[in-house]
Amino acid sequence: MSDAPPPESPPPESPPPESPPPDASGPAAPPPGAAKPVRARGRPEILFPLFSEVTRLDGVGPKTAKALARAGLTRPRDMLFTLPHGVVDRRRRPELGAPDEGEVVTLEATVVAHLPPASRGRPHRVRMRDAAGRGFELVYFHARRDWLEKLLPEGARRLVSGRVERFGERIQMPHPDHVLPPDEADALPTFEPVYPLTEGVGQRLMRRAAQAALALAPELPEWLDPAAMRARGWPAWRQALADAHAPGPPGTDRARAAARARERLAYDELLSHQLTLALARAARRKRKGRPTRGDGRLREKALAALPFALTGAQRRAIDEIAADMASDRRMNRLLQGDVGAGKTLVALMAMLIAAEAGGQAALMAPTEILARQHLASIAPLARAAGIEPVLLTGRDGAAERRRKLAAIAQGAPIVLGTHALFQKDVAFADLRLAIVDEQHRFGVRQRMELGEKGRRADVLVMTATPIPRSLALVGYGDMDVSVLDEKPPGRKPVRTALVSAARLDEVVAHLRQAVAGGRRAYWVCPLVEESDAVALTAAESRWRALREEIGPGVALVHGQMPPEERDAAMADFAAGRAQVLVATTVIEVGVDVPEASIMIIEQAERFGLAQLHQLRGRVGRGAEESTCVLLYDPPLSGAARARLEIMRQTEDGFRIAEEDLRLRGAGDVLGVQQSGLPRFRIADLETHADLLKAAQDEARLAVHVDPALEGPRGEALRTLLYLMERDEAIRLLSVG
Ligand code: ADP
Ligand code: MG
Repeated sequence: MSDAPPPESPPPESPPPESPPPDASGPAAPPPGAAKPVRARGRPEILFPLFSEVTRLDGVGPKTAKALARAGLTRPRDMLFTLPHGVVDRRRRPELGAPDEGEVVTLEATVVAHLPPASRGRPHRVRMRDAAGRGFELVYFHARRDWLEKLLPEGARRLVSGRVERFGERIQMPHPDHVLPPDEADALPTFEPVYPLTEGVGQRLMRRAAQAALALAPELPEWLDPAAMRARGWPAWRQALADAHAPGPPGTDRARAAARARERLAYDELLSHQLTLALARAARRKRKGRPTRGDGRLREKALAALPFALTGAQRRAIDEIAADMASDRRMNRLLQGDVGAGKTLVALMAMLIAAEAGGQAALMAPTEILARQHLASIAPLARAAGIEPVLLTGRDGAAERRRKLAAIAQGAPIVLGTHALFQKDVAFADLRLAIVDEQHRFGVRQRMELGEKGRRADVLVMTATPIPRSLALVGYGDMDVSVLDEKPPGRKPVRTALVSAARLDEVVAHLRQAVAGGRRAYWVCPLVEESDAVALTAAESRWRALREEIGPGVALVHGQMPPEERDAAMADFAAGRAQVLVATTVIEVGVDVPEASIMIIEQAERFGLAQLHQLRGRVGRGAEESTCVLLYDPPLSGAARARLEIMRQTEDGFRIAEEDLRLRGAGDVLGVQQSGLPRFRIADLETHADLLKAAQDEARLAVHVDPALEGPRGEALRTLLYLMERDEAIRLLSVG
């Protein structure tokens, strides 16, 4: 074999098998003399070998270990979960036959003669003959003659394996992968797994390390439901690892076994994650909440002031929220809905329930603009119910802030704001409901922080745009979900067009006409970092150019404007004093001006799908036919074209979200850091989407029947949690 350096011998200082790893979690052993031995709650001993140093493995010395560590593989466990992504078919054939160009061929043949290079730069050739007498040549460039003659003595038989090249009838095998004497042929696996490679670690070493890790892997107590395993044809964990590390070419039994094994291992991963979420959910539910029941009188007044009726989906969501709030468990609910589905109104109704019960509700938005927007849409209805909402942001002057803090401390029923709501000096009289308008910008942990401002406050999280089902399960699996899957009636579809920037003049001419006809338009400037001076320049020069073409009714907003100016520009646009609003993406979230019916997005190819959908959702809210123009700089890349085409084809946010997931992958869609989305090694949120729901159901059921995971099945699940390093789950168990 020629693809790896010779194995290193393990260093003498590698830890003995019994020693627990230095990072073993869990409480220390009970002090000597303790009356009753406390049951060990750390990592189960059976897992110790898998969490020892990777140098324990045969063939892995300090040098290899260093290379493996660069790929994050530091323990035998990591090798186990690094599965091969391919396989080379090295089934022996009795004779050469007629292989295809590029096919891997493995056969025994006789060495006929060595043909050393005739001149410098020419290869060394070795003439071979198969059992049927058919000739072929092994070809070596830059190889030492004595080494080759030792490897392939004339007259000897050798098993050779490698990719062949054809020249008409002539067949040659340049640099065979393997050359072995027949009595060592067993060392070459028939189906050779191919591993993802790390620099400095060859295939052969990866295989050795994986096999050595497998040899360490114990049989573990089964944590899966046996009936489900039978139904899906899944092997036990140890067997699944063995099968997954021994794949076969398509159509073989080995391939089928490996596929089933991978599926099981993926499910294990999903299950451990869902178990963590289920434990978090259970822990939260165990902490008693306070029943918050409204009598409906404030909601009635607000609804009476509403010029329209609630949609069925809004009513359903409000009912679900009201039921959660009325129960003595803490609500932890996600409100999902497409852009324009009317989440704000649902939020207001929930806040009024808290107010009816004599308590307070707070709504936190990710940006100041959005907080103000919420205030603008909520205030008239709240006032109709006799409530003056308080808006707390980082922008209030000292005296104003003092006044607002006092109001909050005295029990102002509805409080809106930004992160400023988190600050220490903000004290509520009786916060019963915390609403987080998440817009993908807050993390899992932060979500709960606002709730901590109250005594066992209920928590409602709203997302900006729909999240694919699979991602919702992964990112928000600890929550209950309400979906607004219905838009208010009378919405007209938005006509979406892709237009090359080469036709900018035409677009501007159309816009001038439309504005003359009384229409209002957003013009969104290219996506650049908000802090970037380039963004500013681009927005300002576009604004100036449009003012020249269209007139003074063109306003500008961007992130670096003094807030007062920004508000003034927005207000001008909302009131119709300005007809065109040139903006950086600050308008992306939440802005609601129903009279606006044109959306023009420059360099649309730079935006993500969710963002484009959000932006387009700013129009099509009123009675008028709306248009969205996606300007792009040609030529478009394939991926960019695909994104923009989807925008043209559909306005369904749930479909767009699914396509987004397909095109970009999960981490990018939710934003890994912000979402707390785990990185799965084996599971893939697209291919295994169907397993997710099953994992969630199984996890919730397991936690329901055995909340502390103490029965035999619970113990097995605990082992799974340790194996998958679900530290949060372990912590939840140890406090529970
Ligand atoms: P979201 O936050 O879900 O994107 P909004 O709450 O901003 O949506 O609502 C979008 C627009 O729809 C607002 O102008 C709002 O007044 C209006 N709206 C909300 N609910 C209804 C309804 N049931 N019927 C008609 N219009 C509605
Ligand atoms: Mg909104």
